[in-house]
Amino acid sequence: GVAMAKSKFEYVRSFETDDTCLRNCYIVVRLDGRNFHKFSEQHGFVKPNDERALALMRRSAGCVMEQLDDVCVAYGQSDEFSFVFKRSTNWFKRRASKLMTHVASQFSSSFVFFWGEYFTHQPLLYPPSFDGRVVLYPSNRNLRDYLSWRQADCHINNQYNTVFWTLVQKGGLSTTQAEERLKGTVAADKNEILFSEFNINYNAEPQLYRKGSTLIWDTAEEVTTKKVKPANQSEREVHVTRTRKKITTHHCDIIGSQFWEEHPDILES
Ligand code: ATP
Ligand code: ATP
Ligand code: MG
Ligand code: MG
Ligand code: MG
Ligand code: MG
Repeated sequence: GVAMAKSKFEYVRSFETDDTCLRNCYIVVRLDGRNFHKFSEQHGFVKPNDERALALMRRSAGCVMEQLDDVCVAYGQSDEFSFVFKRSTNWFKRRASKLMTHVASQFSSSFVFFWGEYFTHQPLLYPPSFDGRVVLYPSNRNLRDYLSWRQADCHINNQYNTVFWTLVQKGGLSTTQAEERLKGTVAADKNEILFSEFNINYNAEPQLYRKGSTLIWDTAEEVTTKKVKPANQSEREVHVTRTRKKITTHHCDIIGSQFWEEHPDILES
């Protein structure tokens, strides 16, 4: 830029506080939709799980991973998404507010930008927003426990919502009656209601609903054709193979070890 003389106002910069994230820690940014209970009703989300909304969330998360550096894994469910920056990242000098606001704004603008591709007959009625927070995890165990916590939350909420909406949609109960009916029930009771009264096996519900979505980087071989024209020869096509990073989505268990053993590159030692 243009070199400018310092003004007498410049001192105000010293009021900025240092929010550098501790080195070696994974930096997790978790976003959550603001007031999505209401947003989902106003936009006619299918209850309990609107596929379009979930796909749009994944699309927006993929956009965050593509546009921002060093996100090694992202996990989402309902109206939330967590982005994990690799522990060695030096993006924006690890400044928490920069990382968090870039994630939140890239996600929000993508959510709006791609809305029409998913909600083809439902206009977006007002600009939605997502809050963000930053949490640091110093060990692989802590990070895995964090992701396990979010996936366990996904399961608990989805199980509740599945029974709740089944009682309303198939059982003819009002929302108040369904709430009343589920008061004090444990997981086994909920599965029993689903199975004995509605012939639904909760464990056969789609993995997407029960496990949420995990996005990671994978490498894929990509073959493209390229036109070359050697000197004094005619033009011809050659095949060029190159490895390309691409995002893959998984709806599997990430609490156990299997997923992490199958993808040993996600976590750094
Ligand atoms: P960074 O990501 O670091 O902020 P930047 O390219 O956004 O990089 P800024 O210092 O924020 O850099 O400067 C914003 C630039 O955007 C300006 O230098 C100018 O080139 C351009 N810009 C912003 N608003 C306008 C505008 N209304 N009309 C023309 N150019 C603009
Ligand atoms: P807050 O602003 O405090 O986050 P909230 O209303 O967004 O309030 P959450 O606890 O974040 O509350 O819950 C999000 C709500 O959004 C869910 O309870 C559900 O009603 C709705 N929702 C989110 N995603 C979907 C979806 N894919 N299908 C149906 N409903 C959804
Ligand atoms: Mg909340
Ligand atoms: Mg919310
Ligand atoms: Mg939420
Ligand atoms: Mg700028």
